Amino acid sequence: MTQKKIETQLVQAGRAARYTQGSVNGVIQRASSLVFDSVAHKQQATAGRADRALFYGRRGTLTHFSLQDAMTELEGGAGCALFPCGAAAVANSLLAFVSAGDEVLMSGAVYEPTQDFCTRILRKMGVTTTFFPHTLGAELADRVSAKTRVVFLESPASITLEVQDIPAIVAAVRRNAPDAIIMIDNTWAAGVLLKPLALGVDISIQAGTKYLVGHSDAMIGTAVANARCWPQLRENAYLLGQMVDADTAYVTSRGLRTLALRLRQHEASALIVAQWLAERPEVARVNHPALPDSPGHAVWQRDFTGSSGLFSFVLHQRLSDAQLAHFLDHFRHFSMAYSWGGYESLILANQPEELAAIRPCGGVDFSGTLVRLHIGLENTDDLLADLADGLARIAATPPVGVR
Ligand SMILES: *Cc1c(COP(=O)(O)O)cnc(C)c1O
Repeated sequence: MTQKKIETQLVQAGRAARYTQGSVNGVIQRASSLVFDSVAHKQQATAGRADRALFYGRRGTLTHFSLQDAMTELEGGAGCALFPCGAAAVANSLLAFVSAGDEVLMSGAVYEPTQDFCTRILRKMGVTTTFFPHTLGAELADRVSAKTRVVFLESPASITLEVQDIPAIVAAVRRNAPDAIIMIDNTWAAGVLLKPLALGVDISIQAGTKYLVGHSDAMIGTAVANARCWPQLRENAYLLGQMVDADTAYVTSRGLRTLALRLRQHEASALIVAQWLAERPEVARVNHPALPDSPGHAVWQRDFTGSSGLFSFVLHQRLSDAQLAHFLDHFRHFSMAYSWGGYESLILANQPEELAAIRPCGGVDFSGTLVRLHIGLENTDDLLADLADGLARIAATPPVGVR
């Protein structure tokens, strides 16, 4: 039997008869109390924590189990913990493994709240965080020590989209700190375009809020662990009271059914927009790993099966406040919002000094304004026209405006 392809897997995963009960989709089982019909049944459910026994709402219902099965299959792990948002998935995955005196080694280009969780919360617990340049691969061997408990990656990096050499990092960590847990924030690849566990990573974390849900109407976090880490992650998440409601688990499962198709369109449209931007005179560079001249392109091509809809570009110019407002305030098809991964296109901008403040290892080697785009499912002709108008607004705005 050949291995199922990803599109088929996404349609079928988590749809066991126990969860669908005769319908196409899994049931929405909303519950706190789950009723036992006998003492023997209660004993069985209580003992069956690892076996998906219906025990108590906080431990999950059929709706949660279905999504957990699907995510475990998608990311190739031993189990999946669910969290109320991506930030909770990051925080709880870290908390499950660190103790006072430990060190977290973290890429200096990870999502800002992930850095802040370490430097503000873990620090109070006696856990130190050391940031390393995201460009390090085999060189990381010199940075890990017996104190290194967790190595935390994110590839491509938030906002600036740099790619990390995961196989080289895994080999380096395993050589000098075999017990360290390697975690990655896999949100950009949605568990589809990159398979971190197959590359030797222990835990793959996603803000399911983004592509899994895909419609900007729910928040959820997922963490899929390998067999080595799953029992500890599961127990800690449970003890920390991490749970998500059944309705959110359901819409996340529903998002999976169209995920491959949505990602393919996000990819195609984002490439059209990225290539168009790369030709524009106002643009100094486009940060998109699928563009051949982007720094991490070769590694991306080796490890990923595609790209998603999020990328950024850097203008030659650092926009003044007046130019930035005039540029961002008048888009017709791009909304200005945090988050991404939904069907709609989004735009945000960062000044170089704002980015430098969240890059503890440096690496912000540009002086112009950075614009981050999420390319949604609109027609790219409309998006390009909107962007062309936006760039024209910059040229038409005097750098010093009225404050
Ligand atoms: C959005 C995001 C998160 C956090 O997810 P929430 O659901 O907003 O808490 C974590 N990592 C990355 C890369 C993200 O983009």
